[in-house]
Amino acid sequence: MTTAAKSETLPGPSMDGPEPAIVQAAAVACAYLTKTQQANKASHFKVFFELAEQTVVRARAGKTTDFTAQNLKSGVAEHASKEASGWLSPLWTKLMELEPQWEAGLIDTAQQLGKTYIPKLGKLPGSPSHYFIEAVELAPVETAEPRPVVPPDWVHYTPEAVAAPAAWLNKALTSGVVPWGRGLNWSVGGLIGIFLIVVLFVVWLMFAAGSKIARPVSPGDLSIAALVLGFVWLLLRVFHFLDQLYTFRIVMAPDMLTPLSAYDVTLEIRRHKAEEGQAELAFVRYSATCPACGGIVEIHEGRRAFPDRLVGRCRRAAREHVFSFDPVLKTGYPLRSLGRTPSESLRSS
Ligand SMILES: [Zn+2]
Repeated sequence: MTTAAKSETLPGPSMDGPEPAIVQAAAVACAYLTKTQQANKASHFKVFFELAEQTVVRARAGKTTDFTAQNLKSGVAEHASKEASGWLSPLWTKLMELEPQWEAGLIDTAQQLGKTYIPKLGKLPGSPSHYFIEAVELAPVETAEPRPVVPPDWVHYTPEAVAAPAAWLNKALTSGVVPWGRGLNWSVGGLIGIFLIVVLFVVWLMFAAGSKIARPVSPGDLSIAALVLGFVWLLLRVFHFLDQLYTFRIVMAPDMLTPLSAYDVTLEIRRHKAEEGQAELAFVRYSATCPACGGIVEIHEGRRAFPDRLVGRCRRAAREHVFSFDPVLKTGYPLRSLGRTPSESLRSS
């Protein structure tokens, strides 16, 4: 059993020294779920939040931090008609499925709070089964990263979830991170090359054949021409996309590469954490809490108003609460004066 950290008995919240591992880990979970506003999105997140919150309470009171399905149900959905373990089972499965996607966000949250542990979900089968949070210590590299301190009207982005790419890409890539080695680089290049040759050949064929035909142009000819133009357009789009990705290292992920349930997902090339010199492609969804209204800030293409940039827009006031987006420092400053009148901002400056 790897629950040594969680069964420590604690003398209540201590004012001196760092908090026990399990309290730190559970507090990181609470902060992450609150910050990304996931806690009120779906039942499985409510279960995670309840588990984390009660873990903090119980650990501080020196009680066991193992929970039964009944414990969790009474905190989340007391009046649900299903019997507790039947109610929890599908929600727990969902949480297990999503867990690999949270790591980046949990690490980021821990760094922001100055904690050195992140939570991992655990289950001890039995009758009844027990559910608990395990504390996992962060690697020293991860805790040593400096946290920029931002002014109150700035935002701090949390990588909310590394979303899984669309199922057709690869079933195994559910963590959303694809190692970007030389092989993949060459195969993408090769595919594009082949596609380019085919399209050029078809265009040439079309002109060569077209010049020999003396009959009037038929609707069939036109639709073939339209199809070829469509391919040329698609090819240009792919070139443009790859050019942007290589130049800027981060772009909005195309819809066809992301699952239907995930939107505002970015695709970035970043350094591989474990292997030196190795790059990886990651699907990440950043979010922040809007300092003006508390709404959730999501990443969008800057388009005409902010050319060449990705920006964070608040869901509640998408045209006004707009922030810059720095994917390295994970910070953003307001790009439009947040609900202040010109005289107010003159006074405050
Ligand atoms: Zn807002």
